[in-house]
Amino acid sequence: MGAIVLAVLYLKWIENLCYNINNVNDERNEKMMLICPHCGAPLVREGQALRCRNGHSYDIARAGYCNLLQSSRSGEHTGDSREMVMARRRFLDRGYYAGLAEALCAQVHNLAAGYGAVRLVDAGCGEGYYTRKLAQILQASGQLAGSVGIDISKSATQYAAKRDPLTQYVTGSVYHMPVAGNCADIVCSIFAPTPAEEFRRVLKPEGVALCVVPGAEHLWELKCAVYDTPYKNREEKYSLDGFQVKDRRKIMYRVHIDNADDIQTLFAMTPYAHRTPRCGLERLHALRELDVTLSFLLLTFCPQIEQSAFPEKGSMIY
Ligand SMILES: [Zn+2]
Repeated sequence: MGAIVLAVLYLKWIENLCYNINNVNDERNEKMMLICPHCGAPLVREGQALRCRNGHSYDIARAGYCNLLQSSRSGEHTGDSREMVMARRRFLDRGYYAGLAEALCAQVHNLAAGYGAVRLVDAGCGEGYYTRKLAQILQASGQLAGSVGIDISKSATQYAAKRDPLTQYVTGSVYHMPVAGNCADIVCSIFAPTPAEEFRRVLKPEGVALCVVPGAEHLWELKCAVYDTPYKNREEKYSLDGFQVKDRRKIMYRVHIDNADDIQTLFAMTPYAHRTPRCGLERLHALRELDVTLSFLLLTFCPQIEQSAFPEKGSMIY
């Protein structure tokens, strides 16, 4: 008898949870001003789909993300694979990059003070490790007007959506974001491409782009272990056409990694992973533990009032 009562209570609790999550989903869609990747009209949620007034419809997966890739091919085979997403998620869950996440949250908290309600877009959000924390910070201060995470990888957006009911995750390209123009207060780009023109389009005139790029010493010990002549990253090269630097912070600390799996995942997260010679890879695979420096530049850009004549198309900061 007791077991039946418990089972009924459990089912009620699940029902209530689903109801609450659906309500959050409705709200997060309405507020983010997602647009149809086909015709550019606003998307509105109807049941388990996002629809535009011209009849284009996009299913919302059970996990909560929506595939808005313009191409007829699904996001299954683009961006990071499921295995890479899972490896990176395990790595990030161990907290090595928590120091960066804290610094990002502090900066978004500071910036939000100037805005009141904040609409956040995380361009190239991956599995949402940072997006989720940023949305939580804004929610905690009652300033979250909307949060959207965009990534080309379907696996990444799927994982992100499962863990973050505050953000609407969509599979899409950061070069053609399915987001209305002039609607975002903050666009984040954390180790992701930074198409300046597209950032300008989605940002309000008083909005900012918050970019994280590797600092000079990032992964120095790892590079020394793998390469004969390692180079430091050039910090001075980072810029964003049509924007000026409003704030520049450096975050640097060391972490101890005590297993080969995490070392290899960390290496796979870098751009060097695809261009390292075999002897370097052999040295990498022999590493069992490592004390390594993590170094990041946290750059806040605001749009230049007087835009330079013709910014380069599709410019990137790295
Ligand atoms: Zn449409």
